[in-house]
Amino acid sequence: MFNKQQWSREYYKKNKKKFYLYGKEWAKKNPDKKKASRRRWRVKNAEKNRQLANNWAKKNKDYVLHNAKLQKYKRRKAVGSHTLQEWKDLKKSCNYTCQGCGLKEPEIKLTEDHIIPLNKGGTNFISNIQPLCKNCNCSKKDNLNWHLQRLNEKTPQGEATVRTTPITKRKRRDEQK
Ligand SMILES: [Zn+2]
Repeated sequence: MFNKQQWSREYYKKNKKKFYLYGKEWAKKNPDKKKASRRRWRVKNAEKNRQLANNWAKKNKDYVLHNAKLQKYKRRKAVGSHTLQEWKDLKKSCNYTCQGCGLKEPEIKLTEDHIIPLNKGGTNFISNIQPLCKNCNCSKKDNLNWHLQRLNEKTPQGEATVRTTPITKRKRRDEQK
């Protein structure tokens, strides 16, 4: 006997891709309806939705943490923003080295430090961020001169301005002299 339910199930299985593309196309044309349908799905599948969100968050921990930080800065009415990728690129360009003490990840954990503190008019753009370990970050606090003091220690000529050269390069240059 012809089983319509089974037939349509198999038909769907065979043409999954087609259905998917069709749905995508429809969603593009009907963004409001898609939004409403997604909302309905979330209400109907609250438990599953929570689980999915949890799983996603577990897999993207650093993304979640980064977003939480951005929210915090937003509440403090900070100007500007930066992406997780920008922060990762910055750490890479500094060779995963703390700009204060020169220790490296994973020996230490690098944290985002605002070169000019937010409450002193600094922005949250990546150009105002430097990687510091927790110790250095705490010892710096809101001291604006911290960076210049450190630079003077390292290069008495004072030719380098704030974060032009990662500390490792500065060290290497000093060693060559
Ligand atoms: Zn440090």
